[in-house]
Amino acid sequence: MGPDRTGAPSPVRGFVHRDEGYRWNEVAVKEYPATGTVSRNVTKQVLFEADENLPAELRYFEVSPGGYSALERHEHVHAVLILRGTGTALVGDEVRPVQEHDLVYTPPHTWHQFRAAPDAPLGFLCLVNGDRDRPSRPTATDVEDLEKNPVLKGVIRY
Ligand code: MN
Repeated sequence: MGPDRTGAPSPVRGFVHRDEGYRWNEVAVKEYPATGTVSRNVTKQVLFEADENLPAELRYFEVSPGGYSALERHEHVHAVLILRGTGTALVGDEVRPVQEHDLVYTPPHTWHQFRAAPDAPLGFLCLVNGDRDRPSRPTATDVEDLEKNPVLKGVIRY
């Protein structure tokens, strides 16, 4: 957080609404490369980093129209609040439409992927443990298994 006149960090970081994405003052935006990655059109901002007083991280991801987050699973869980736009949330064997203010929980070891609508962004807050395992990505066999589910066939991106 930025220092004020006394040099102490300010407790407030202002919100900035830009057409290309929600932003907060003094929060860095991470853009994932356009190609060679498992997600498409996603930015990430860490709003609150984990520390000894609060061992959790609050991030904001924004997926631009037509984009999607990586299909992954891991032991740690996500508590998600949709903040902007519309799209779909794949969790386990379900794909559900989501809109602003909906809540999404991803349990341990459960496949998940967030997709923006073709004509709207999808922005969401995502709460995670600071100390967490790395995501794992689907193998060819996993994809084969996932696509046996008619709900997921043709829907997953990987
Ligand atoms: Mn995840």
